[in-house]
Amino acid sequence: MLIGAIEAGGTKFVCGIGNEEGTIIDRCSFPTGEPEPTLQKVIEYFQDKNVEAIGIGTFGPIDINPASPRYGYVTTTPKPGWSGYDFLGTVKKQFDVPCGWDTDVNAAAYGEAIWGAAKGLNSCVYYTIGTGIGVGVYTERKLVHGLVHPEGGHIMTRRHPEDTYEGFCPYHGDCLEGIAAGPAIEKRWKVKGSELAPDHPAWAMEAFYIGQAVTGTILLLSPNKVILGGGVMHQKQLFPLIRAEVLRNLNGYISDDAILRDIDNYIVPPGLGDNAGLCGSLALGLAALQEK
Ligand code: ADP
Ligand code: ZN
Repeated sequence: MLIGAIEAGGTKFVCGIGNEEGTIIDRCSFPTGEPEPTLQKVIEYFQDKNVEAIGIGTFGPIDINPASPRYGYVTTTPKPGWSGYDFLGTVKKQFDVPCGWDTDVNAAAYGEAIWGAAKGLNSCVYYTIGTGIGVGVYTERKLVHGLVHPEGGHIMTRRHPEDTYEGFCPYHGDCLEGIAAGPAIEKRWKVKGSELAPDHPAWAMEAFYIGQAVTGTILLLSPNKVILGGGVMHQKQLFPLIRAEVLRNLNGYISDDAILRDIDNYIVPPGLGDNAGLCGSLALGLAALQEK
């Protein structure tokens, strides 16, 4: 069985095909341009692949309410041309197969729950910390949608006492994304995150912010696993720093062994590595096929 997967990111698109075990068999990637030419490349890729379903995990915000007349549309993004674009409809017009449709981070959370670090668990939360910050929520074995979909990258944060950087979010300034996504690190320290030494004070400050978000997530949703992915989390020294922040913030309040004794296996990198997004889209496609 071949399933198609589209990981639609703000900077690049990844298309692939895979099977029901979550194995990616083939893939291609290209920069995200205006919607029409970008989707043309997607259509060309899948034209001769004979997929039985397609899963799409995309940057947003998007409309994921099946009852909405704009279901499948990208909604309010500042990305040129994409606001109000019928992404899902364009794919469906070309390929008469069941299609899964969700945010990139919900897709990643789902992929991790089916095949990755949260395999077999009832719930997990997936953070991507990259050009922006996004959060996917899987709970009681279902992805959370609600009113629109979770936008946990834009939660309010308590500022680090030594941080003078104002934040770059055009809507909120120093929300979590504004103060802790990759561009915030670069603007604050005047050098790309990837070029900062592992013991640079930038990482303790980063952990202070991510640790707050993870603490809030644990208190609000009580997930069975917290998964932290995205380019910034390639800095592996962040994991112990974030775990320490979470323990400090919780201060023993959540008295479960998963946190008190085994936090190294509770706050973890994606089990699927950098494939979390694409495998997640694959899982969405598979789910759409099974629902048919
Ligand atoms: P995107 O969010 O665009 O899908 P990424 O998850 O790769 O892509 O995130 C890109 C952001 O992460 C950039 O701001 C970049 O500076 C930062 N980044 C990428 N790799 C690293 C690294 N090894 N260390 C620190 N920051 C990184
Ligand atoms: Zn914001």
